[in-house]
Amino acid sequence: MKICMLGAGYVGLVSAACFADFGWDVVCVDKNPDRVNDLNEGRMPIYEPGLDDLIERNVKAGRVRFTTELAEPVKQSELVLLAVGTPMRRGNGYADLSYIFEAVEEIAPHLNDGAVITTKSTVPVGTSREIERRLRELRPDIDFAVCSNPEFLREGSAIRDFMYPDRVLVGCDSPRGQEVMEALYKPLSLRSAPVMFVERESAELAKYAANAFLAMKVSFINEIADLCEKLNADVQQVADAIGADKRIGPKFLHAGPGYGGSCFPKDVSALIRTAREAETPVTLVEQVDRVNNERKISMARRIQAAAGGELRGKTVAVLGVTFKPNTDDMREAPSLVILPMLQDRGAEIRAYDPEASKDAEEQLPGVTWCDGAMKACGGADILLVLTEWNEFRALNLKAMKNAMRGDVLVDLRNVYTADAAEDAGFTYHAVGRPTGI
Ligand code: NAD
Repeated sequence: MKICMLGAGYVGLVSAACFADFGWDVVCVDKNPDRVNDLNEGRMPIYEPGLDDLIERNVKAGRVRFTTELAEPVKQSELVLLAVGTPMRRGNGYADLSYIFEAVEEIAPHLNDGAVITTKSTVPVGTSREIERRLRELRPDIDFAVCSNPEFLREGSAIRDFMYPDRVLVGCDSPRGQEVMEALYKPLSLRSAPVMFVERESAELAKYAANAFLAMKVSFINEIADLCEKLNADVQQVADAIGADKRIGPKFLHAGPGYGGSCFPKDVSALIRTAREAETPVTLVEQVDRVNNERKISMARRIQAAAGGELRGKTVAVLGVTFKPNTDDMREAPSLVILPMLQDRGAEIRAYDPEASKDAEEQLPGVTWCDGAMKACGGADILLVLTEWNEFRALNLKAMKNAMRGDVLVDLRNVYTADAAEDAGFTYHAVGRPTGI
């Protein structure tokens, strides 16, 4: 099958590489010439474990290539996948669909009779129908099908998630669309991943509902963590106990500084917006959003309290700024709220992140970037763990404490145990544990 993928971001690039690995013939088109250049010279524009090897292997085999020109690949493909961004629109929380509709206008003149156009991007309910309406206006001369195939991969484990999904969801209302989408995912059926065919509106809404539900789990455990601190319980023990119940499940029950990333905040916000417009507000989800926004602010207050109430003249060594480990993605990372609040209160920030990109430097002005955890600690008063990168688990806490001026360790990811931190000489503050502030 010949496929044209629009967008070489986290979703487009990973999906293009995985579809090529299935054996399909994929051309991945991105508007950003630097991104395409990097890919053509073997440099990865994003950090995603295993992606470089997967792309190298499939480029060598001639199954995937990268370009900025879409005319030829669209003409030659029976399937065009849209994986462009749908960021939060400034001001009103709604999904910004300008990239989607620009892409639709661009592909329209080159589509073949019988083409299938499928959105992989997360798009509000009704978008597939609207794409179809727009294409009918632009190309009344051809038959085509528009499907919705929301992507559920997670950054940091994207390839595994793509290759071994819990399910593949396809919203489709035509035999032609179903035939092509069935063929596309056929290699996965050998791994018995269920491909679910549903109405397009159901597929679109399911993606938002899934992210809102997961975000709700995170906000739920964060509130339980606060309660644990007051009542001398341990949130990890509570999470393990409730997570063992199959009706609840153990995932997304890690207390921390609030969720971030390119998906949860914007998708929660877009769902709230869609529901209000439908005059059926999702008040539970509205509360999830509120709890998460307040969470980040309360974490800054917590760090100030741990520092004895005063941050002026103090240096905070920060470990991790990305919204989660194994990614360089800074979108909506809690660090973007917490660190400027600490700076406003007079703190100096020295930070280390294994994959912090130029993006992080631009978004966090005034931060001194260090090339290792030990270096960040030098002369610091407070050590703050914001992202649970694996390499932070095995750090020599005693040596870090010795490199510091102060002895406060605020561990917002519960990476360490109170015993290990206190043995190293730290005054330890975790989240949702009896030792918390
Ligand atoms: P991204 O911002 O990393 O990548 C989008 C890419 O599309 C950019 O490289 C941009 O240059 C390119 N682009 C924009 N308009 C284009 C056009 N007309 N032609 C060609 N290229 C174009 O975005 P992402 O994180 O990959 O997300 C894409 C979509 O997938 C979003 O709707 C997102 O909500 C959804 N999604 C993301 C994730 C995730 O973990 N990142 C997971 C599931 C779903």
